[in-house]
Amino acid sequence: MKDKHKLHNIDIDLIEMTLDIMKYAIGRITDTNPTLGHFQSEEKLRELVGETITEDGIGGEVALDKWKKILAPACASIDHPRHLAFVSAAPSRAAIMFDLIVSASSIHGAYWLEGAGAIFAENQAMEWLVSLTGMPKGAFGVFTSGGTSANLSAIVTARENWRKKDPSNINRKGLILTSAGAHSSVKAMAKVTDAEILIIESEDRMEKDALEKAIQNLSKEQKDRLFAVVATGGTTNAGIIDDLAGIADICEKENIWFHVDGAYGGGALAADSVRHLFNGIERADSFTIDPHKWLFSPYDCGAIIYKNPELAKEAHSQHGSYLEIFDDPGARGFNPSDYQTSLTRRVRGLPLWFSLAMHGTKVYKKSIERGLELAQIAAKKITDSEHLELVREPGLSCVLFRRKGWDPQEYRNWTYENLKKGFAFVTPTKWTQNGNAETVARFCFINPDTTEKDIDLILESMI
Ligand SMILES: *Cc1c(COP(=O)(O)O)cnc(C)c1O
Repeated sequence: MKDKHKLHNIDIDLIEMTLDIMKYAIGRITDTNPTLGHFQSEEKLRELVGETITEDGIGGEVALDKWKKILAPACASIDHPRHLAFVSAAPSRAAIMFDLIVSASSIHGAYWLEGAGAIFAENQAMEWLVSLTGMPKGAFGVFTSGGTSANLSAIVTARENWRKKDPSNINRKGLILTSAGAHSSVKAMAKVTDAEILIIESEDRMEKDALEKAIQNLSKEQKDRLFAVVATGGTTNAGIIDDLAGIADICEKENIWFHVDGAYGGGALAADSVRHLFNGIERADSFTIDPHKWLFSPYDCGAIIYKNPELAKEAHSQHGSYLEIFDDPGARGFNPSDYQTSLTRRVRGLPLWFSLAMHGTKVYKKSIERGLELAQIAAKKITDSEHLELVREPGLSCVLFRRKGWDPQEYRNWTYENLKKGFAFVTPTKWTQNGNAETVARFCFINPDTTEKDIDLILESMI
């Protein structure tokens, strides 16, 4: 008699379950119009799902059924063509497929010793990302769990480098300058590293002059603590790219670390139509980009690129005597754990690698250009409508606009009703000018399958 309590049995039940799960996964991957889905309260979910964790198990069939019927529909499908909230995502089907292989393969992505083949492939994808930046020879990076951990890895590297330059800095609390448009993760990760953060209060493009003035206004004591400037390559709210070349000038003059956060906007480096907006990025000391945003990778996949990876290695490397076991030089190579904060890691760059290898980089350029084009199309429709007006010209693929006469509650009601109907997820945001935060509507285009018709339908829902 088979023992169903053995976790690693391969038997007929497992084979049937594998087929059911594959069937579900293939169905989801090929679904071009997935159910949008939306949240449910915890009480409601508890009532519908019941207890699933029991001593004897409820069985795979029952658990999968609960997932399909109750749990999955209580999640928003970020890849829905009318999901234009926050920063949406639309992973390529090739990338998702390969993510299944990553899951199936138990590869430990920390060390070359164990993950050589996977790390080699990840690094080929990384070479392409680095080439988009135009950073000098030697620049390189690693895939991280997201933009937050990429920013953290960069800040730690910057701080360690600052301390190394002058050991008395060890007793100083570091200071970072950034702008109001910077992502919340920059502030949060400054806290993690116990650095103080000073914000230049403008949501608009951070200009060279504003940064220069902010530095001049620092006290001597503050200036001694200033170790990094964080610029944004496409703000999350409005797609604004800071004056990267001007900021690079200041950072070079002041001898401080220049980090560019392009977690959302970085994908647009591949788009010829807007590449010039990023000029100066090649002079960054570090650069964050999230393939799980605008490079069509499944969650989660961020990346951090350093001009001088050796500095990151000095900051992050974890030495393990157990690693030096073979004389064979083939066992030694690039260890991703040396360049960011985590040790054990999923080889999360592999889905991007496979999709890039399969499709080529041209298709990526085209899909990213489509997001930019959709923003221009939407802007034109908004300008032509008597009920709507643009707040500003689109920044990359972000469009901020007003429904004339609406108060914040009316924007929220509109969002809520569209989501509850399973029609669209488009959220309001705030746009701040001269200290005045106005509630406005926002589109962020990523998914090349979003159509003009989708835009029309959403705009019509505001009339
Ligand atoms: C999304 C975003 C982040 C955070 O990235 P996660 O992958 O969510 O951790 C950081 N910076 C910017 C500019 C972003 O848009």
